[in-house]
Amino acid sequence: MRSLMKPGAATIAAFLLASSAGASASPPADRVFVGGRIWTGDPLHPTAEALAVRGTTLLAVGSSAEVRGLAGKGTEVVDLRGRRVVPGFIDAHLHLLGGGLSLGRLRLDDAETAATVMETIRAWALAHPDADWVRGEGWTYAAFASGLPTREALDAVVPDRPAWLVSYDGHTGWANSMALRIAEVTRETKDPPGGRIVRDAAGAPTGVLEESAQRLVSRLVPPPPRFEKERAFERAIAQAAAWGLTSVHEAGIAEDDLAILVSVLEQKPALRVYAALPIERDPSADGLARQDAVRQRYASRRLTIGAVKGYLDGVVESKTAAMFDPYPGGGNGLPRWTQEELDRTVAAYDRAGWQVMLHAIGDRAVDMALTAFERAAAANATRDRRHRVEHLEVVRLADLPRFKAGGIVASTQATFPYPNANHLRVYVPALGPERAQRALAFKAIDDALAVQAFGSDWPVFPADVLRAIACAVTRTTRAGLPAGGWEPAQRLSVEAALRHFTRDAAFAEHREAEKGTLAPGRLADFVVLSQDLLAIAPERIQDTQVLLTVLGGQDSYRAPGF
Ligand SMILES: [Zn+2]
Repeated sequence: MRSLMKPGAATIAAFLLASSAGASASPPADRVFVGGRIWTGDPLHPTAEALAVRGTTLLAVGSSAEVRGLAGKGTEVVDLRGRRVVPGFIDAHLHLLGGGLSLGRLRLDDAETAATVMETIRAWALAHPDADWVRGEGWTYAAFASGLPTREALDAVVPDRPAWLVSYDGHTGWANSMALRIAEVTRETKDPPGGRIVRDAAGAPTGVLEESAQRLVSRLVPPPPRFEKERAFERAIAQAAAWGLTSVHEAGIAEDDLAILVSVLEQKPALRVYAALPIERDPSADGLARQDAVRQRYASRRLTIGAVKGYLDGVVESKTAAMFDPYPGGGNGLPRWTQEELDRTVAAYDRAGWQVMLHAIGDRAVDMALTAFERAAAANATRDRRHRVEHLEVVRLADLPRFKAGGIVASTQATFPYPNANHLRVYVPALGPERAQRALAFKAIDDALAVQAFGSDWPVFPADVLRAIACAVTRTTRAGLPAGGWEPAQRLSVEAALRHFTRDAAFAEHREAEKGTLAPGRLADFVVLSQDLLAIAPERIQDTQVLLTVLGGQDSYRAPGF
């Protein structure tokens, strides 16, 4: 594992570096950015006007006059003209391959009614007569009167080929009759462990497959070939830079895909990636050694591996998130692990120096994750672990102090409370009123002094950080509904949302001494924005654009015209 500088020591070293830079022996800055309004994220020096860059790091952060003094003959001088500058955004939870693939696929996210969903599919199928499968993603439960679609509806628009469409949250698949036939899913097929084949009153499959049952069909869909994955990663990296991202956390990536990502990053180094490998249950010594070899092999300038990621439960919409109290209509959602199995596995990875990321959405799953982390810390040697609970959508308020006490990171998704029709008509009713009040409770998490790192879970939601900040601050849709925001007590300040997308996300990957704040000696990763987020009315945040993204001193994205 990496050794960590104490923040205090880093700051002192950095400012010494800055003060010696003017001496005649030191070369001048490569680039200086002056005349800006800079939010540094550094509590000791929260604001500045100018930045000087040499190589990949910041040489100085200060007033325009000071920074101009570091310019020499060949220095590029950029006048920021009063623009707001913030540290480069860090998305603490996304899936680059899925995100990149989704950019080129049939997307149903914006289809709010069943009629629009069907029309979008029909149009895509017509426009792609050569595709062997019609596949797409992003449909929402709220688009359908009963909350779920049917194979008959899909047969009507795709009668000639198999079709497979995954819900926006990735937990429910929808097949047409031909896809079910190829997969040999019939009324006789048993539900697989951890999954459900939805059936009609007569017991026939409706075409909807939940959780692990999706594999029955998805395993037959031909995987994208290597060149398509390369293109997807390239598109994802370019899109991330345009959203102002300089770092992302890849929340679980298969080893084959990792090799492709590394090769793409070598050609197109416009993003820093911190990656998690899939967790193995009760890993053997050999298994741990093999994963450690992967960790070493792929460590590069742009990619590091430090975590393993596991799933403890499902999602709220399909009532598969593991809860203490039953859902309206029954069932608590089943955890995918026993506590004992989880404790053993987490302790083994903890001993081997890994950070563990556990997907836990229901309050019971969150408690299981916290318990496993606490037990691993008690059993193993003292170290700076920073294990992470991913999503923690519903949590018992009494469990929140366990994050700070255990040094556990709360990894939440800023756009998950986006109160669209799906959220209000499917998500909230599935929780019931008591749980809805403590769902996606970002403010309560902050008040419990947990480190909260924000992400998007792209492709679940786009990794569009400015739109995500707008959601965390207003908890309304783009149209401003519901007035005042959904569960408004959990709204955050702009500054808190910025912190979660910068410094706290850097902390979540053990890198806060290098990035996430703007200070001398830190990486020159920052973003120039079209509007001053910290001064405008909250409802205008969503109209803010990224003008320039700088990664390690180089432009990774520049808006047309800037
Ligand atoms: Zn995810």
